[in-house]
Amino acid sequence: MQQHLEALQNAKACPLWHDSEAMPEVLPPLAADEKCELLIVGGGFTGLWAALQAKERRPDADIILIEQTFVGDGASGRCGGFLSSDLAHGETNVSHRFSAEADRLEKLGKQNMKELLETLERYNIDAHYENTGLMNVALNPLATVDMHSEYKQAKAGGEDVVWFDQDSVREQVNSPAFFGGLWYRRGQDGVIDPARLCWGLKDVLLNQPGVRIFEGTRLLGVEPAGKESMKANCEGGVIHSDKILMATNAFTSSIGKIRRSVIPVWDYQIATEPLTGEQLEKIGWGKSRHALADFSNMFHYFRITKDNRITYGGGAAVRYYFNRGIDEKFAEVPDLYEQLAQEFFATFPQLDDVKFSHKWGGIIATSTRFCMVPGVAYDGRLAWSVGYTGHGVGASRFGARIGIELLGYQPSDILEMQFVTAKALPWAPEPFRWLGVRFTQNALIKADKNGGKRGLWLRFLDMLGLGFTC
Ligand SMILES: Cc1cc2nc3c(=O)[nH]c(=O)nc-3n(C[C@H](O)[C@H](O)[C@H](O)COP(=O)(O)OP(=O)(O)OC[C@H]3O[C@@H](n4cnc5c(N)ncnc54)[C@H](O)[C@@H]3O)c2cc1C
Repeated sequence: MQQHLEALQNAKACPLWHDSEAMPEVLPPLAADEKCELLIVGGGFTGLWAALQAKERRPDADIILIEQTFVGDGASGRCGGFLSSDLAHGETNVSHRFSAEADRLEKLGKQNMKELLETLERYNIDAHYENTGLMNVALNPLATVDMHSEYKQAKAGGEDVVWFDQDSVREQVNSPAFFGGLWYRRGQDGVIDPARLCWGLKDVLLNQPGVRIFEGTRLLGVEPAGKESMKANCEGGVIHSDKILMATNAFTSSIGKIRRSVIPVWDYQIATEPLTGEQLEKIGWGKSRHALADFSNMFHYFRITKDNRITYGGGAAVRYYFNRGIDEKFAEVPDLYEQLAQEFFATFPQLDDVKFSHKWGGIIATSTRFCMVPGVAYDGRLAWSVGYTGHGVGASRFGARIGIELLGYQPSDILEMQFVTAKALPWAPEPFRWLGVRFTQNALIKADKNGGKRGLWLRFLDMLGLGFTC
């Protein structure tokens, strides 16, 4: 049997992070009609951070959070766990869309990160945080040239960056696929175990008076109830509330404006068994422990966990399924896991004896502006923050802040920023949406094969302000 197939043979079809003794009991679903001040829909980072920040801002707030399956079952508990202070999908995206607010966004991102980590300290949440920074690695000599100019620009702009040439990058992480490395130390950026963060926040919330969480409870639809309040029809009952925050991200929403803002893009990962000391020695990564991503459009992201596994995801193995496919059957994609395993072994051929323990997929909420889309409706009684486009571990805490401020929880001048007020272009209807995503994905793969050179279609999208860059 081929090496990658053999290595995948016993991999569990389950997110690594969920297969943990830290997973708490799933709470009972809603079983009767309820009333509250603030209803939060969605038990991922956005919903959890929103509940906590609303409570911190108004300690007597009466909050209900509902989650259709269990807390951390969405992207938040399935992601790569790269935690960054970046709020808007990288500098290139910021300079294209929000250049006048670039400095403010950077400051707000750093403040958000600082407060996030302080919260972990304050409540004693052990999310296996490691301050690794992020290192981009170039996979061919041409990419090295582009990456080096990015390094020079970043350095000139005062960023804390370190350049590694081919020899020195391989001293950091020994892969014959790496031709250069650019390490963004960026203060507190690093990695976490994302499900542990979700469950830690859930635990903190359950210890706050006036916070109730119902799991296994799906929102079916919302409607205004008079001029002052809202009515949420849920599986198990009706919830009357003054305000609603939709923290449903990529999941199909009954609110048209949210639905048109995002599409669900599946992204897949595999994880190895814990590496032995000898295996770690072979790749040298045990010492530096940088979180890694390749310097390409369809980039892989890979990192070491606390127990020395490697999680490996992304690359060309991402999919948008026709008409917003989000069914769990889309996590069963043997060919994509095989592709990832092959790419893993091409990156680390020395690890030829390593086996994979887990394989899984999750859905990324992709917006046309490639970063969060906040919004508000029903005269300020319903708000949302969705669409982090694969960069939401840290940014979702800020998205949650915007969401609750839009609902009147100590609103600040961030609500006047163009980042909050600018409307995102809606996605096109099917079949144009599916065709457009497929076409663009193929064009990005082609550009990566051409050393980053963008073809006609990508240049056309760039011109419209719709071009995707990593
Ligand atoms: C595979 C993968 C890897 C990623 N890696 C990274 C990374 O390394 N770094 C990074 O910064 N970002 C990453 N991301 C993105 C990041 O995970 C998300 O941006 C972030 O978790 C979004 O949090 P959220 O709470 O808004 O959404 P989610 O975590 O998706 O939460 C939404 C929740 O709403 C619930 N819900 C939806 N509809 C309803 C309803 N009708 N009723 C009740 N509940 C409902 C869902 O069940 C879900 O739990 C990744 C995403 C994926 C999928």
